[in-house]
Order: sequence, then C-alpha cells, then structure tokens
Amino acid sequence: MHPAEPVDLLITPRWLIPVEPHAVTLEDHAVAVRNGRIVAVCPVAEAETRFAPAERTDLPDHVLIPGLVNLHTHAAMSLMRGIADDLPLMRWLQEAIWPAEAKHASADFVRDGTLLAAIEMLHGGITCANDMYFYPDAAADAFSQVGMRAVIGMTVIEFPTGYAADAEDYLRKGLAARDRWRGEGLLRFAFAPHAPYTVSDASFERIVQLAHELGCPVHMHLHETTHEITESIATCGQRPLARLERLGLLDTDLIAVHAVHLDLHEIETLAAHNCSIAHCPTSNMKLASGAAPIKAMVARGLRVALGTDGAASNNRLDMFQEMRHAALLAKVTTGDASAFDAHEALRSATLAGATALRMDNEIGSIVAGKAADLVAVSLASPECSPCFSPASHLVYAAGREHVTHVWIDGKPRIRDNTLLWQHNKELLQRVRVWQTFLKESASSQ
Ligand SMILES: [Zn+2]
Repeated sequence: MHPAEPVDLLITPRWLIPVEPHAVTLEDHAVAVRNGRIVAVCPVAEAETRFAPAERTDLPDHVLIPGLVNLHTHAAMSLMRGIADDLPLMRWLQEAIWPAEAKHASADFVRDGTLLAAIEMLHGGITCANDMYFYPDAAADAFSQVGMRAVIGMTVIEFPTGYAADAEDYLRKGLAARDRWRGEGLLRFAFAPHAPYTVSDASFERIVQLAHELGCPVHMHLHETTHEITESIATCGQRPLARLERLGLLDTDLIAVHAVHLDLHEIETLAAHNCSIAHCPTSNMKLASGAAPIKAMVARGLRVALGTDGAASNNRLDMFQEMRHAALLAKVTTGDASAFDAHEALRSATLAGATALRMDNEIGSIVAGKAADLVAVSLASPECSPCFSPASHLVYAAGREHVTHVWIDGKPRIRDNTLLWQHNKELLQRVRVWQTFLKESASSQ
C-alpha cells in the first residue's frame, strides 16, 4: 500500500455540487486541497485512505459549491446604498449619483467603499467580483487587503471627473494601475467603457485595439433601457449593439451588462461572437428597466451569467438574491415555470461568470486542478428543512445568511460565519464619516 499523500485541507460536506458536470449533486464526497488547488474530488472513504490532511473540515449539514462570481458590480457604490431610491435610471444617475460622485469620489472613498462591499460579498459566498468604478488602484488595494479575487475595471467615460480629465486619461490611468498590480495573484484587469451613450467611437476603437494586444476582457453596460436605444438611433442612426459590432467590440468576447432590450437577431449576433451577458435582474427591476430575455438567450446558446450591479441600485450585493430573481423573473415573463431552473441559476452564478472573464480554467466549478474557491452553505436550519434537493434550496429557500465557510485559493476567508479580517471596526467608523459627508451634500442640493 502507498503511503498517504499529504494535503493541506480535506473538506467533507454532506452534499457537493461541482457545477461541472452540470446538474449533479454528490453525496459523501470530499475535496482535497493542496497549495490552494483542488487536488481531488472523490468519495470520502477513498479520500480517507488516499490523503493525509494537515487540516480537516467536516460539514455534516452543508452543501459545498464553487465560489460565486459576481459578473457586474460597482463595489465602491456601497457607500451610496439607499441614497436615492425609487427613481428611473437617467434621473437616478443625473440627479443623485453623478453629483454625489463628483463631490466625494476619491481614492479614500473608493478604498473604503470597496472594502465594505468586499466584506459583504465574502459573507455572501462571492469569491470573485468583476468591478467597474474609478480609482482602480484603490479598488485593487481594498480587494487585496481582504484577500478577495477581483477583476478591476479600467473605466473609460468621455466626461471629466475628479479622477481623470478625458477618455485618454482614464485609459492611461487604468493601464498604469494594471502595471502596478501585475503579479498580485488574485487580481486581474478588464477594460470597462461605461456605456455606448458615454463613450465615443474613437475611444471604442482604441479599447478594441488594446483589448486584442493585452488579452484583456471588455465589460460594459449595454441596452439597459429603451431610452438608450432610441437616443442612439436619433444621434447615430444605429442601435447601440449595431454600432459596437461596426466598431469591432463584439470580437473581444464582450461582457454585455444588462442587455434588457435585445431582439432575436441581436441575441444570435452576441451568441455567434461568443459574448456573455451579465444579467442583473434586481437592478433591472428596481430601476424599472425591464426583464432581459434570458430564456431566449440560453436557448440560442448565449452565455448568461449574473451580477448584482452596485449597491446604490440593488441594494444588496447578494448573488443568492440574483439567482432567485433570475429564476423567478424568467418564469413570470415567459409563462414557463421550467425556464431557468435551479441548476441553470447556479451555473450562471459560477461557471458562466468565470467563462465570461476567461477564468474558467481557474475557477467556477469544483474540479481537480482548479483553484480552491469554495463556499459552504448550511441547510440545517428550520427554514431549510427538510431538504430534498440542495440545488433547489440554494436558489429558492436558502440565502447568504446560511453561508458558513468561504475559501479563496484554499485559504479561509470566512470560518464558522466569522470574517477572518481584523479591521472591520475601524472600517465601519470611517463609513459613518462618509455617511455624514454624503448626507450633507444630498441635503444641500
Ligand atoms: Zn452597472
């Protein structure tokens, strides 16, 4: 008999949903982790003879899932949670958000807001976020402090802010941040042009060229409202998606955020170009933007992943909520109760997001060789009992409050519901100071 193979960690959950293969729930299986990587997923009896773990975590009432991937957020906007609710998108942006950002957005604001968001996301089982905001250095610093995986947006917008003067300046600063954080294993960078209505043709052409040169994904809001589409037709004679196709954006495996208003031809075009949708059902409902046709997207092979959007338009950075809303909204808008089932929702919250970010060789499913980004959800409480199907519970019954353990790259970030980051108290004190500043500026308008 061979001597047992040393591993750092052996996790033995009651159930395990690896996401790959699709729609499989394993029982009595273990995950072995060494140097941050998943070494094996195998029956517990086999794991016990094969491995000599330095540490063992038994989870008798839990389902183990891959870390959730939030494919669209503006993390720092957590500081503006609840500042202006019950408004449509353009009034929300023009009357509330843009003035508050103009007055307060700074590196310190972004660092604190991103820390706050990262902590919320970790507690909710989100291990990777695709972020779009200003001051990417500060966002990168925050994600790196708490040890969360993130793709930092190199935001481009034509109008000046305190952060940058013009599109060229945004690009230059974003690329400089990318250079500074190179080698930080949990961080990557993506181009994040804000939206068709805030970015010029010339800037899009430059982004396409750079995206090909550097191999970075491109992430942008698209077809969020009917207003965006009618305005584009009025100003440049084309729907926004047609304009992006003409400019070459679709050849970058674009991550199109929202995509609420697409016709069948547009869905097929995006699918043919291997683009992905970051579906944000809660934000779309709250801003009354509409319901993205995700059943038609999935039927035509267009990848649908999920995002929370920022906390100012949601107001929870909660992927359990997004899974549930995506499933329910798909059913109510199509009259088909089988649309977007629980396993589809779980895949869209994990592997689909990882694939959209071109990180599916690293994260998104519990498979040997991938990074150990893992989340344990307890299903022992009365509201989760009895449990006939853990996948069904994850989407329709459980919530982020049932997340007990989170590992990223094999390292514990949440253990027994407790965040393993020591500076929570000081952060919450600073958040109270930001609240005072934001309240003063809101009341002085
Ligand atoms: Zn957004």
